[in-house]
Amino acid sequence: MSETKSETEAAARPVVVSCVFCGKPNRVDLVRLSAGPKCRECGRPIRLDRPLKVTDTDFDRTIQGASVPVLVDFYADWCGPCRIMAPTLDELAQHRTGELLVLKLDTDASAATASRFGIRGIPTVIAFRNGKESGRHVGVGDMKVLEGLVGGR
Ligand SMILES: [Zn+2]
Repeated sequence: MSETKSETEAAARPVVVSCVFCGKPNRVDLVRLSAGPKCRECGRPIRLDRPLKVTDTDFDRTIQGASVPVLVDFYADWCGPCRIMAPTLDELAQHRTGELLVLKLDTDASAATASRFGIRGIPTVIAFRNGKESGRHVGVGDMKVLEGLVGGR
């Protein structure tokens, strides 16, 4: 890493995520997560230490609004391998809170987005950087695969 410490510490690290309770988009600074961000609409807590659900409605906004790497799990409720992989994504979201966003998209409920990205098999995980796809993995992936997609620490 060539960036200086003062730069990384002072810089805001904004993301725009939808409140899981009311759906309202909220701009959250990942540098200030310790303050316990709350939804400005309903006042309930915004938790980023677990995969966050996205839909056709807020997918683009969330990807474009993220200043950190994003990993999206394209899954479906009936998909056994997706369930096998879910704990690994939970763990990644928890361990890398504030460094990246882990999102999950239900390919049945949000078929338009799944189709736009040419999802043929699930689970598929796609990594995004600066709003653009930077890598993808089809099938169950372990932590090493996920870390490789988003980049290490
Ligand atoms: Zn809310």
